[in-house]
Amino acid sequence: MDPVVATLTRRLPPGAVLTDPADTAPFCVDWRDRENGAVRCVVLPGTTAEVAAVVRECAERGVNLFLQGGNTGLCYGAVPSDDGAGVVLALRRMNKVRRVDRLDSSLIAEAGAPLVAVHGAAKEVGRQFPLYLGSEGSAQVGGLVSTNAGGTGVLRYGSMRSLVLGLEVVLPDGRVWNGLSTLRKDNTGYDLKQLFIGAEGTLGVVTAAALRLFPLTRSSAHAWVATDTPGQVLELLGHCQDAFDTAIQAFELLSRSEVEITLANVPGNRIPFAAAPPWSVLIELGDADPEAPLAARLERVLERRLEAGTIADAVVAQSESQAMSFWRLRHTLSEANKRHGMSHTHDVSVPVSRVPEFLGEADIMLARDFPEAVPVVVAHFGDGNVHYIAMFTREDWARRADPAVDIERLQTSVHDIAARLGGSFSAEHGIGRKLVGELQRLTPPPELDLLKRLKRAIDPAGRFNPGIMFPA
Ligand SMILES: Cc1cc2nc3c(=O)[nH]c(=O)nc-3n(C[C@H](O)[C@H](O)[C@H](O)COP(=O)(O)OP(=O)(O)OC[C@H]3O[C@@H](n4cnc5c(N)ncnc54)[C@H](O)[C@@H]3O)c2cc1C
Repeated sequence: MDPVVATLTRRLPPGAVLTDPADTAPFCVDWRDRENGAVRCVVLPGTTAEVAAVVRECAERGVNLFLQGGNTGLCYGAVPSDDGAGVVLALRRMNKVRRVDRLDSSLIAEAGAPLVAVHGAAKEVGRQFPLYLGSEGSAQVGGLVSTNAGGTGVLRYGSMRSLVLGLEVVLPDGRVWNGLSTLRKDNTGYDLKQLFIGAEGTLGVVTAAALRLFPLTRSSAHAWVATDTPGQVLELLGHCQDAFDTAIQAFELLSRSEVEITLANVPGNRIPFAAAPPWSVLIELGDADPEAPLAARLERVLERRLEAGTIADAVVAQSESQAMSFWRLRHTLSEANKRHGMSHTHDVSVPVSRVPEFLGEADIMLARDFPEAVPVVVAHFGDGNVHYIAMFTREDWARRADPAVDIERLQTSVHDIAARLGGSFSAEHGIGRKLVGELQRLTPPPELDLLKRLKRAIDPAGRFNPGIMFPA
């Protein structure tokens, strides 16, 4: 037996080391089934002490570790290298919610707890953890922290960076940093937890996180608005901000193509119009006050926009189930895109006011350079975060002489447009293996130098997630 596997098997409880290829295969491929790796074994530690033991053992033997949560990441950051020399450390057995405190408005969960479990535990004490995304059944606390996940609630509550109060982390030498504080204010030097948030497993294994909770949303209003242009969407956002300020919980944009794909590929999805409009905006307002008259106020604002002719149509949900059907469509679109064809997704952000300009320029580029692709757009519009998707048919993609060259050309063009408008080439999905070259290409040298120096300072042997974020 491989000596590394033998030692890990001795150190961990029965069943915590997987070697059978049938068992390890799901850990070696990404959610979209596009990137494959290989491993000596997969380890499933159940406690922080077991994680530390695995890390120490691998450090001593010079074995690389690939960290994995729910494996829903969209940049191949949880996929091991293809040389088969590393070990996947998956956190799924560390899935307890250790503590929930209503008055402190905080919750401590282990890294392997799925997001839905955190939502449930917070709700039991009359609080919410306001991170909402389509992968919430599978994505885990450690992965959400490590990718600084966003989703539809960022406009009001911020991304994981704003929602984490403290972390427990196993460092590359096997020591445990217990930073599981729930303090709101603590100015004692560098804010170390921020280093590990969004680090994509390159600096340490997150084993638990203290998270901020918020009052439950006790009244809400949901609207589906049809518009003709992204410029009208921007204008509508301004009016909603004037009227509702922080009550806006989500302001999402979908192109006609995206709505049509989602209707065609996910049974049961419905829209409140006879046909998909050119641009759809999904708005959610929320308030802790159960009496807040949000639906009536939203109707008034939208009526005024209809009278002014700056929106084409609007439906305010008349029931909880209608509201849920709006959001069901929104949260099943990644699954629909995966089924529909060969989608190439870009996750850029630009200043909110420049989203229409970005969309205009990207469409011109796509029609010129990739006329066979359909532009598909889903945007967290209120955050200036656009998922600009070039959708190809599988047949067309299979015919390409050199798909890797085409992907690079497409990606470079989309990212350059965002950069010209003062934007970022990765808004919420991170770098993973997918954007390693883009991080090198588009990051200003002093910033890239600092990133590399931090990595070397904390993980000098480069044992954690090699090939992810930085070249291996
Ligand atoms: C249908 C769908 C919808 C999505 N919607 C959104 C969205 O709206 N917004 C958004 O931001 N993302 C979205 N995502 C992407 C994805 O869900 C997030 O990136 C999520 O945070 C990944 O969590 P995970 O547990 O699956 O992590 P994984 O995919 O397992 O890992 C992601 C990265 O984190 C590292 N990592 C995982 N666990 C740990 C740990 N304990 N310690 C250190 N490093 C670790 C991995 O090595 C990897 O680099 C979506 C994905 C899908 C499939």
